Amino acid sequence: MTLSIRWKVTLGSLLAVTCGLAVAGMLAIQALEQQEASQLSEMLDARTKLVEYGLKPVFPSPPDTPLPRQIQEIVRDLGTRSAARITLVAADGTVLADSAVADADLSAVEKHLSRPEIQQALATGQGKDIRASRTTGERTMYRAIAMGPRHEGKPVFLRLGLPMTMLEQETAKLQRNLAIALGAAFLMAVLLSVWMARSITKPLSDMAGVASRLATGDSTIRIKTHSRDEVGQLGDALNRMTDQLRAKIDELSEDRAQLLAMLTSMVEGVMVLDYRGHVLQVNPALERMFGVSRTEARGRPCAEVFRHRRLIDLVAAILRTRANHEDEIVLAPTGRCLHIEASVAGGERENEACAVLVFHDITELRRLEKIRKDFVANVSHELRTPLTSIKGYVEALLDGGKDDPETAVNFLSIILKQSDRLNLILEDLLELSKIESGSVSFREEPLDLRNLIERTLSMIKPMADKKGHQLISRVSDRLPPIAGDEGRLVQVLTNLLDNAVKYTPEKGTITVAAQELADTSLNPTIELTVADTGMGIPEQDRPRVFERFYRVDKARSRELGGTGLGLAIVKHIVEGHGGQVWVEGNQPQGSRFVVRLPVRKPRGSA
Ligand code: ADP
Repeated sequence: MTLSIRWKVTLGSLLAVTCGLAVAGMLAIQALEQQEASQLSEMLDARTKLVEYGLKPVFPSPPDTPLPRQIQEIVRDLGTRSAARITLVAADGTVLADSAVADADLSAVEKHLSRPEIQQALATGQGKDIRASRTTGERTMYRAIAMGPRHEGKPVFLRLGLPMTMLEQETAKLQRNLAIALGAAFLMAVLLSVWMARSITKPLSDMAGVASRLATGDSTIRIKTHSRDEVGQLGDALNRMTDQLRAKIDELSEDRAQLLAMLTSMVEGVMVLDYRGHVLQVNPALERMFGVSRTEARGRPCAEVFRHRRLIDLVAAILRTRANHEDEIVLAPTGRCLHIEASVAGGERENEACAVLVFHDITELRRLEKIRKDFVANVSHELRTPLTSIKGYVEALLDGGKDDPETAVNFLSIILKQSDRLNLILEDLLELSKIESGSVSFREEPLDLRNLIERTLSMIKPMADKKGHQLISRVSDRLPPIAGDEGRLVQVLTNLLDNAVKYTPEKGTITVAAQELADTSLNPTIELTVADTGMGIPEQDRPRVFERFYRVDKARSRELGGTGLGLAIVKHIVEGHGGQVWVEGNQPQGSRFVVRLPVRKPRGSA
């Protein structure tokens, strides 16, 4: 059991007071007893002398005469007067008279020669002793003196005995009074010790309470100090310490909040490891990249949380070599490509940052790189094909073909066709690069989309008729006017219709529709669709047909005179107008290209 300071102080001071009082009481009682005893002794001396004086005339002279018969009576009388027991003892110890013994019993009283006080009086003329009387049974103080030759020529001893009962009663009374006084003093001491202990320990226990509340995180609490003593100084020091602690905690919390905000808002994934490779921190971006949760990851070995061989090897390498590393990994099954920069932070203990890994998602970058590489390869290929053809026919002409007019005309017309194709590709490429570079700004003129569609359809009609296609127009009567670049939007529709005619076998149906979308959650939008009943586009190719030179069937496209750039141009123009384009399957067969354009009010219209 642990005692509180208050009880320790109280009990300690009480113990000290009790010991002091007990010793003082004992000494006082001893001193009082001694004083009482010496007073009694003096009184006995005086009475002895008086009795001796009173007895002197009683003894006959000459000394060998027998004692008068009334001696016993005189002794009893003197005993009563002096309030003491008086005994006269002959030199042989025979009791001659005794005030406490009846006359008849006197002869039966044993000899008193062996009594210590008689022995002393025999030797020195006087003696004293304190003991319980064999005759009366009371504790008695004796005084004996030799009275010279009085009886049968020998000395007689006069002995006075005073019972100690009076003294004992006095002492008991004194002890009682003393006990009462000491009890009162003890009670006072108890009250004083409790009060003192309280006044000393109260500020301390207050401080203990405040300190434990501080420990639970309540830094607003203050210790109230009233005194300027050590306890007051301690309270002030604790208050100052609390202020400093609070300032430090605030500072740390702010830093931590800023750090967390940074980590949370980062697009890059961040992971912090200690020297054992245990995860200390991961940010939300990393959680999303790997599909792990921060609470699960924290404190666990990296190899356990991220089951990616290459990442585990990279972490092992950085922890082993303590040098910065870089690597690229691909995540299965998403195929996302991550570039990792691992740098050493230097922590050497558990839960201390030792390595920081930053993950950049470079999937898009790699995709664009691939598109660029493919593009260069495609451009070269696309340009080389007609050029090779032209070169081949020119060589054939030079080799003698020119001599046969019919062959020459045939070869020259092929050369012209290939030159036209080359020209077409270069024009499309130029157009595309102009749109991509942003050097072309789309005009924002008021447009009547219905009219634009009708005009484009009439342009494409001869081509469609050639293949026996049916052209259907389903344009809503209530299309709002929009702001856009008419020439470019005609190009969009022409490219889509051109493809529909090209990639639909003869006698197909091509439907153009336009309407304002009823969905009020969207901004006012117009949806333009071109659907055909042709060969359609396999689902996996659909997102890619808008890439430059991407063709589902290269040979067929080329044969039909396509450059592979038409849809790329469409995409750029539509996005340049703030819209979207995609392709879906048409029911029951064919493709359906969807263009959504935001309704932007022409300038100047209400
Ligand atoms: P191309 O000049 O080859 O037509 P595009 O960019 O216009 O180039 O089209 C890309 C590819 O998309 C085409 O080669 C073709 O494979 C496919 N495609 C485009 N439109 C259609 C369509 N209406 N039906 C089927 N396939 C289409």
